[in-house]
Amino acid sequence: MNKILLGCIADDFTGATDLANNLVRSGMRVVQTVGVPNEPLDAQVDAVVVSLKSRTIDPHEAARQSVRALDWLKAQGAQQFYFKYCSTFDSTAKGNIGPVTDALMDALATDFTIATPAFPDAGRTVFKGYLFVGDVLLHESGMQDHPLTPMKDPNLVRVLQAQTRHRVGLIDYKVIAQGEDAIRARISVLKKEGVGIAIVDALSNDDLYCLGKALAGMPLVTAGSGVAIGLPANFGLAPNPSACALPAARGLQAVISGSCSRATNAQVADFIARGQPAFVLDPLELLNNPGQISLALTWAAQHLQGGPVLIYSTAQPEALKVVQEKLGVQQAGELVENALANIAKGLIELGVGQLVVAGGETSGAVVQALGMNQLQIGDQIDPGVPWCAANGIHITLKSGNFGTPDFFTKAFDRLAN
Ligand code: ADP
Repeated sequence: MNKILLGCIADDFTGATDLANNLVRSGMRVVQTVGVPNEPLDAQVDAVVVSLKSRTIDPHEAARQSVRALDWLKAQGAQQFYFKYCSTFDSTAKGNIGPVTDALMDALATDFTIATPAFPDAGRTVFKGYLFVGDVLLHESGMQDHPLTPMKDPNLVRVLQAQTRHRVGLIDYKVIAQGEDAIRARISVLKKEGVGIAIVDALSNDDLYCLGKALAGMPLVTAGSGVAIGLPANFGLAPNPSACALPAARGLQAVISGSCSRATNAQVADFIARGQPAFVLDPLELLNNPGQISLALTWAAQHLQGGPVLIYSTAQPEALKVVQEKLGVQQAGELVENALANIAKGLIELGVGQLVVAGGETSGAVVQALGMNQLQIGDQIDPGVPWCAANGIHITLKSGNFGTPDFFTKAFDRLAN
């Protein structure tokens, strides 16, 4: 059996791709699985990222699924484990980052781990335990209005402490700047003080490389995707561009967007401003008239031959609030996710072979509906977002807040070149 080095568990599908992307770019051969496989691994790779859809489900169920993934990764020989969450630390008041971390620590019988969503390439930095998104604090970044996980407190020590039974501490930027030995020394002190999970500051990729060295041998790492750039070197691996080659792209081009994040709103606006065809799904209309799905597909069939089309439910915070007040947050989310997943199936039947999906939960629903079990990771379009290949289709799963405003157009240009 091929033994893997790093076993990763991601709490959503776009996050899994983001992590896989960083590992591939740092020299690891990576497969991303959709859910926990029933069979042993049948691929020669250095890391596997098991993607779950556990970010907003019941915290006990999230912990159960994560431990099941851990058991499968252990059986594939993984030497170190990585729990990946969102770079904006998306979690509900009930969890799930804390409860999943607790369950994984128990299952690995380890009394210490770190937690940091820092990903400087994507503008996520942590300073004194406070998370910044670009130039602003988390709760000013638009994340305060997220449909499922509104983030109203940028202090991650506080946010995580409310979710875990472990004591939460901090390894701050001054320690990180002193390097590997200082980080290890700080970890020893924190452990003596009874801290079980340390939030870690990181302002640059250099910080993450330093941190990576100090994490060698730590059984469990919990983080966004950023920390991954520093881990492959611990296993003697170096960047290798051939790790991300995909077959040539074929078929028609479409974008499905169910994200209401600020970056996605800008991307939808950019696509429409270019005069490209776009079809908007209204959740209230959808509730009363499921015929909307076939309407969207009939519309798509008329436009697909002319170039990429966009089908979206993306809405500004005010419009989102109106829908959520009428339908409930969860119900509105599921209604839209199911509709977009069915539309994705219909688009593939219409000949789409290049599909951009915007939104973490949305991507999870689409990938499951398309029956994709394993994704091969290709070239990066923007930080955290690579093209992938599965079932003969090119697909990219864009986390809501990732990507430049021209992302939808750029993604297809990248494939063409
Ligand atoms: P992101 O990556 O931006 O967080 P997600 O897809 O993870 O995006 O989450 C967006 C959630 O909002 C999904 O559950 C989606 O179905 C839901 N949603 C999308 N559009 C609307 C809308 N117009 N009204 C209500 N909910 C919506």
